[in-house]
Amino acid sequence: GLQERVGNIGNGDELSQLASLFNELMDQLEVSFRQQKQFVDDASHELRTPITILEGHLNMLNRWGKKDPVILEESLNASLQEVRRLKGLVQGLLALSRTDSSTLTDHIEQIRIEPFMTQTLKRMEDLYPEFAFRMKAEGIGKVVRINPLHLEQMLLIVIENAVKYSAEHKEIDIRCYEEQKRVCISIQDYGIGIPTAEIQHVFDRFYRVDRARSREIEGTGLGLAIAKNLISLYQGDIEITSIENKGTRVTLTFPAVSS
Ligand code: ADP
Repeated sequence: GLQERVGNIGNGDELSQLASLFNELMDQLEVSFRQQKQFVDDASHELRTPITILEGHLNMLNRWGKKDPVILEESLNASLQEVRRLKGLVQGLLALSRTDSSTLTDHIEQIRIEPFMTQTLKRMEDLYPEFAFRMKAEGIGKVVRINPLHLEQMLLIVIENAVKYSAEHKEIDIRCYEEQKRVCISIQDYGIGIPTAEIQHVFDRFYRVDRARSREIEGTGLGLAIAKNLISLYQGDIEITSIENKGTRVTLTFPAVSS
């Protein structure tokens, strides 16, 4: 008990154990402070860029926009685009911050993946009519315990990425199956892919592969960070395999339970 431990503190062994425990804790705290600071730095930088561009366009509008209809049109459109980008960033940051507080495992339901996926894909077909979403489900007996809003959020992130990075290949294959007591959903696209060395980074906040190339494709680099945080709340996992210019497969796995 405490009495015993306090009593033992005089003992040199105990003291050095306490000291090393204290050092370990301080190291952890320092790492966590540093990460927090890094995150604020990164977020500020991401927000500052569109604000600076927006300011430039507003200055243009102010000086020449009233007289020059071409500048008016161009600067207004460019400004709108930057505002959309800012909105996306703020929404992403909010979503990310919500996944950090873990009172989130409220509202858990037992979800049957097959009908849930069918429903989600119907919405996707409406949103992206030029795409073919092909689903295969293989005898899933078990259910997944999860907040359905979280499951939907992760699926939207991954499927929208598949759509965004598909280039001209408008087919997406979705497979649901059970493997070693886990329910798995894989989403395969045939688009631009991710270079092998970059795969490890795509879950990092704000990370986007080849910023120049993905500039035309809207995005914040927050989606996969959000998906990863969410899925880890449920002891699930998210894995990516990809071949550049051939396509990407994202697999979500969840602990399966009997209904
Ligand atoms: P973003 O908003 O940029 O899509 P994400 O966090 O969702 O942010 O993804 C991070 C990066 O990973 C993307 O910018 C893109 O470079 C890469 N990526 C994600 N999904 C795919 C995919 N299906 N195919 C190719 N690249 C992808």
